Amino acid sequence: EKVLFNDKMIDRENALFSFDDRSMYFGDGVYEVIRVYSGHPYKLEMHLQRLQRSADELDIPYSIKEKQTLKKRVTELIDTNDLTHDGYVYIQLSRGAAARDHLYERHIDPFIFAFTKEMETPVNQQEQGIAVYLTEDIRWLRCDIKTVNLLGNVLAKRQAADHDCSEAIQHRGDTITEGSSSNLFIVKDGRLQTHPADNLILNGITRQIVADLAEEQGLPVSFTPFTTAELLEADEAFITSTINEITPIIEWRGTRHGMLNIGPITAQLQKALQADIERTRSG
Ligand code: PMP
Repeated sequence: EKVLFNDKMIDRENALFSFDDRSMYFGDGVYEVIRVYSGHPYKLEMHLQRLQRSADELDIPYSIKEKQTLKKRVTELIDTNDLTHDGYVYIQLSRGAAARDHLYERHIDPFIFAFTKEMETPVNQQEQGIAVYLTEDIRWLRCDIKTVNLLGNVLAKRQAADHDCSEAIQHRGDTITEGSSSNLFIVKDGRLQTHPADNLILNGITRQIVADLAEEQGLPVSFTPFTTAELLEADEAFITSTINEITPIIEWRGTRHGMLNIGPITAQLQKALQADIERTRSG
C-alpha cells in the first residue's frame, strides 16, 4: 500500500513523520476526506477548494494551484492502491516541522500526506436511522476551518457513544450548530432548515450538495439558526457527511429527549443523492 508523502508515492511503512511536526505539537494543520465510489473520487474539486481555504485561513503557505499536482496525485493514489470499489482518500496538510514554539515562522515548508482506505456505505444506518446525543458545543470560534485540532469534536463523539448514540449534536447555549463530524438538517412542514455557513460550523460538502438537490426538487431550504426547542418540534431530521452521506435521526437524547420517524423528505433526498453518486460511479 502506497501513501502520498509530500510529492512522492511511498510505501506506508516508510512514511515516517518528523518528531517536530507542528500538527503534533499544536494541531497546526488542516485536512480533507474525499469519498471514492467505484474508483472515482466524488466532488474532488470542492474538497480541494475547501482545503485551500482552510490553509489560507490558517496562514499556511500552500498553493494547490501553483503545485498543480495534488488533483493528479489523488487519482494516482487511488489507482496505485487499486481502490476500484468504494472508500475514501484522507489528505492532511501540516504547517510543517520546526522546533517547538507557539510562534510560527512563514518560511517553514508545509508537509502534505494522503492515504486511501476501503469502506462500504453504511446502508444499515441509512435505512434504520440513529440516536443522537445533544450536548453543549465547547469548540473554538473558527469551526469553519477544517483543522486537525478536533478535541471538542472527539470529546463530544465519546460522550455520544457512552450514551449509546452514534453521533453528538452540539448546541451553543440554545442554538443548534452541527454534529461532531456531520451537519444537521431538520424538516418542518415540508421546509428544510440548517445552521448558516458561518464561523460556528464546518460548511460541509455534503450539506451543500444536499441543499442544492433539495432546491432542485422544489424543497425550500432555510439557512438560519434554530433552537433545541424547535429541533424537538421537527417532523424529520438527518445528518450529512462525506463518509455517511445522509443518515436519518430517530431519537434525541442528552439535553432533550424525543423520538422521530424517518420521513418522506429524508428518503427523497437520500434517493437524489444516490442518483448523483451513481453518475460518479459510471465515470
Ligand atoms: N461538520 C464537521 C465538524 C465535520 O467534521 C464534518 C465531516 N468532515 C462535517 C461537518 C461534514 O462535512 P462534509 O460533508 O464535507 O464531510
